Amino acid sequence: MLSGTGPADPAEPAVPAGDEPAVPAGDADELRQRARDFLASHDPATLPKLGFLRARFDAGLAWVHYPPGLGGLSLPRSLQSVVDAEFAAAGAPDNDPIRNGIGLGMAAPTILASGTDEQKQRWLRPLWTGEEVWCQLFSEPGAGSDLAGLATRAVRDDAGQDWRVSGQKVWTSLAHRARWALLVARTDPDVPKHAGLTYFACDMTDPGVEVRPLRQLTGEAEFNEVFLTDVVVRDRDRIGEVGEGWRVAQGTLMNERVAIGGGALPREGGTVGIVAAAWRAHPELRTPGLHDRLIRLWADAEIARLATERLRQQLAAGQPGPEGSAAKIVFARLNQELSALELELSGADGLRYDDWSQSRTETVSFVTRGPGYRYLRARGNSIEGGTSEILRNIIAERVLGLPAEPRTDTRVPWKDLPR
Ligand SMILES: Cc1cc2nc3c(=O)[nH]c(=O)nc-3n(C[C@H](O)[C@H](O)[C@H](O)COP(=O)(O)OP(=O)(O)OC[C@H]3O[C@@H](n4cnc5c(N)ncnc54)[C@H](O)[C@@H]3O)c2cc1C
Repeated sequence: MLSGTGPADPAEPAVPAGDEPAVPAGDADELRQRARDFLASHDPATLPKLGFLRARFDAGLAWVHYPPGLGGLSLPRSLQSVVDAEFAAAGAPDNDPIRNGIGLGMAAPTILASGTDEQKQRWLRPLWTGEEVWCQLFSEPGAGSDLAGLATRAVRDDAGQDWRVSGQKVWTSLAHRARWALLVARTDPDVPKHAGLTYFACDMTDPGVEVRPLRQLTGEAEFNEVFLTDVVVRDRDRIGEVGEGWRVAQGTLMNERVAIGGGALPREGGTVGIVAAAWRAHPELRTPGLHDRLIRLWADAEIARLATERLRQQLAAGQPGPEGSAAKIVFARLNQELSALELELSGADGLRYDDWSQSRTETVSFVTRGPGYRYLRARGNSIEGGTSEILRNIIAERVLGLPAEPRTDTRVPWKDLPR
């Protein structure tokens, strides 16, 4: 799952104009003017923040690649930076993207691709404005990498209309803040595991939802265990057909990998910039060995940045494919190696830890915490959103066309699988 520690940290400067994909100048000029007209009639200094954000959404200036009526103008995704630059220059408030990373990076594209028109109208606006935070109820104690084996059950209620959901989820980031959750549950245990799943939006205010914090390596409790006991889920909140949950979840997961590993960055943005600054600040700690490591990682980070930029341009044309897995693997490895190097370059300061309280911060930011935090938090990067081992399997099978892992559990009814 997604955390705010990916490179798309809004504390980072935007990609310089020279690195943006080419867009027709006419479109960009027209859009710039549209943003200026909007700002002229909606003064960000005097309007309340929520009213301003809602109006921006209604004007199609929220995410320009979304359809009209849903916050966009059906324009190329690459034009978003034109709008964002105008709003930033005017000092306009943004929608705090890190606060609702799962909503923006995963729920929104899932709803857009697989939701009904009514669901899109109901959920996308409060999601984009930040009024409704989303979380992801996928992983379970017995189903992480093997997500299709999950055991949370959804059964039709007595009237045969809505659903009753019971089970346990785990590692649920932001569940303590969320109004809605992306939920995958088993609706048919009598068919093979992938075929018996259905995808829902779960109302996190239902009395059957219990959220308990889980303290992690860094001290804080970013994520939770979530116990679901007879939770009522309306059939109108089902996303996709009954039994199609695996297909819908694949879309969410591919977007998740791009959201974690595919952010736009300037050169020396993200962790590599922090490490380069530490190198410049501590000449007394330099050794030829550390210099060699820094140069290698700096070059790797630059290659990853440029490759990600190409991936983002491909994405502008449609939903992400398995290639996003590569960006996520590289991001995780680099973040771990760079944060380890930063710790060494911090000398004795690297042994200090800035905040050991079990905080429940809304936004996880690599930038605002110390080197010890970055080192520890980066360990999770190769687990969240799919482990690096699983992503290598995906690349091997779906990108390189190598033979699939032998699987013995894909034709047997889920209820007969050993657990
Ligand atoms: C910071 C963080 C935030 C998270 N947030 C969320 C969230 O919001 N929502 C959510 O649903 N989940 C979330 N997760 C859970 C995450 O998706 C799972 O931890 C992850 O999918 C791995 O599952 P697991 O922990 O059950 O490990 P397992 O699946 O038990 O894996 C254990 C080890 O075995 C390896 N392994 C397993 N199967 C194979 C295989 N076939 N081939 C090779 N190696 C294999 C794995 O790579 C791993 O090293 C989060 C995790 C972290 C660390």
